[in-house]
Amino acid sequence: MAKVKAIRGMNDILPSSTPIWQYLERQVSTVLSSYGYNEIRMPIVEQTELFKRSIGEVTDIVEKEMYTFNDRNDESLTLRPEGTAGCVRAGEEHGLLFNQTQRFWYQGPMFRYEKPQKGRYRQFHQIGVETFGMASAEIDAELIVLSARLWKKLGILDAVTLQLNSLGSTESRQVYKADLTAFLEARFDQLDEDSQRRLATNPLRILDSKDTNTQNLLADAPVLSDYLDEDSKSHFAHLTELLDASGIRYEVNPRLVRGLDYYCKTVFEWVTDKLGAQGTVCAGGRYDGLVKQLGGKPTPAVGFAMGVERLILLLETLNAIPEEERSSFDLYLAADDKAAQQAVFALAETLRDELPSLRIRCHFAGLKNINNKARQSGAALIVLIKQTEQGPVASLWNEDALVQSDIALSALPEMINSAWQ
Ligand code: ATP
Ligand code: MG
Repeated sequence: MAKVKAIRGMNDILPSSTPIWQYLERQVSTVLSSYGYNEIRMPIVEQTELFKRSIGEVTDIVEKEMYTFNDRNDESLTLRPEGTAGCVRAGEEHGLLFNQTQRFWYQGPMFRYEKPQKGRYRQFHQIGVETFGMASAEIDAELIVLSARLWKKLGILDAVTLQLNSLGSTESRQVYKADLTAFLEARFDQLDEDSQRRLATNPLRILDSKDTNTQNLLADAPVLSDYLDEDSKSHFAHLTELLDASGIRYEVNPRLVRGLDYYCKTVFEWVTDKLGAQGTVCAGGRYDGLVKQLGGKPTPAVGFAMGVERLILLLETLNAIPEEERSSFDLYLAADDKAAQQAVFALAETLRDELPSLRIRCHFAGLKNINNKARQSGAALIVLIKQTEQGPVASLWNEDALVQSDIALSALPEMINSAWQ
């Protein structure tokens, strides 16, 4: 009978990779807690309505990427395509947003029906950060500075660049939208098919079209920065001042618009040229209008989300994962002969009592080729126990050679400890 396979674009993360995921997650949570951010955990499924109202009906996500289904009650539910909407929903529902400042982060799977390829999957993982109640550019800067600190900690800062833009207020963007639409309507026949469709629904998205013809056409199009309102202009100026003072390099990219409807003022992306077409590893911006749009009181907000798979691809490409983070245990404990096998189980427990940070894996399978098996296990240390007339004794090996043989079991913890240093 044919075996059942995983769903296309939804990947198993195997034990050989999970140490790298855990390493990344650990670095992220260390940096975030050093800035006083709190983790929030939301459900993976929400009412479809939530995404329609927040992301916008005429976006790629809502138009063609959502996993939507009716449950047994005939209620329309959707697997979350992103985390911001659910985070706002949860914050509102529990009264955490009104008249307060909040710094939240979350992590977990997101679902989008896209064409699977390198760096683009149907189930993928994001680590998201959302802040509420802060209108001034300091918090935008904090998000960017903390992400830069994370890249530095991960050893990838030199491989990413920061792209920055301001979308202005919703009102100023309306004026721009109208002018851009008029400009593009006059050149409708020269647009690519996708852009022709977007012209009626979401003309701003045409700005980040990948089509060369369309891009050439856009060279003479009206530029969003000429339309910015005074408030957005000074917000952006303050943000760049703070980034300059922090030594963060950025490129102002007037074409950067982001896919979702709810952004205003600051938008940014961290981009790498090391991963081909899927080069955006982290993206975010300000969304002052969203809380109100979802039924709350007006609440300024800004956040970002990183793509975990893309970050891991980047770490792999740059060879930036410390060797010791790839392994899941340090010491392999085995018996050399049948008589000594009994000692393994109890000795492992004693070692775990005395050396709690050491990760020990016991050999409980057959004794054939035990030396080779222990070597191939990838452990940094190997302990082999054998039975003698005086009772069990151990030999200790490191990756290169024998450290010592005939060690009394009582002397083993100290011996391991010094070999481990
Ligand atoms: P893209 O332009 O690559 O489609 P996006 O604008 O749709 O990205 P966001 O919604 O801003 O992406 O999500 C934030 C981050 O999540 C992206 O920068 C990326 O790193 C990651 N991401 C988004 N979609 C996917 C996916 N299908 N597979 C893997 N990672 C993804
Ligand atoms: Mg996308």
